[in-house]
Amino acid sequence: MNQGLLLVVSGPSGVGKGTICRALEAMDSSIHLSISMTTRPPRKGEREGLDYFFLSEERFQELIKKDELLEWARVYTYYYGTPLRPVMEARTAGKDVILEIDVQGGFKVREKCPDSVLIFVFPPSIEELRARLRKRGTEDPVALEARLCWAREELRCYGRYDYVVVNDKVEEAVKKINAIRTAEKCRSRRNLGMEQLEE
Ligand code: 5GP
Repeated sequence: MNQGLLLVVSGPSGVGKGTICRALEAMDSSIHLSISMTTRPPRKGEREGLDYFFLSEERFQELIKKDELLEWARVYTYYYGTPLRPVMEARTAGKDVILEIDVQGGFKVREKCPDSVLIFVFPPSIEELRARLRKRGTEDPVALEARLCWAREELRCYGRYDYVVVNDKVEEAVKKINAIRTAEKCRSRRNLGMEQLEE
């Protein structure tokens, strides 16, 4: 069985990456959405093991030392990281794995796994992003401005990603990412050994 794809989905906070990734996972059982570890405290309604694994900074450092994270980064004031083992297991089982991570993490994944596919989700505009973050209401005004500031930095990184998807409508963004998956699976380098069919 072919190894599943490793898809990195990044984009500024509030752009709707989470909604897109969850919609992708819900519509296709061959997609595995990675659950990250974080030292950020849970927001209202967030569930352990479903949204994140919430842990102490001490425990997080331990995981880094033990090399149990595929990548990790400090985003704003907290640590975030991708547990390595579930990603490897899902890919080996032929599932496509989605990592919803920031750009620092995206670049680390590209370094470690050159066959990964990097997708950058863009907001229709910065004004729209600000409006979405406000509507979400999960950040106080200071944290919201910090996120917008970091968003501008992140937006500059899109050129190092393989694909750009503007999240105007979630269904359209989901369709585009599915189209990217299909195209990536058709790449000749992912289908070596086809010539044996000739006989
Ligand atoms: P939030 O606190 O809003 O859930 O996430 C903040 C940022 O951290 C988002 O850009 C999100 O994509 C990123 N993030 C979430 N999990 C990970 C991870 O495992 N690794 C990295 N590098 N970034 C992550």
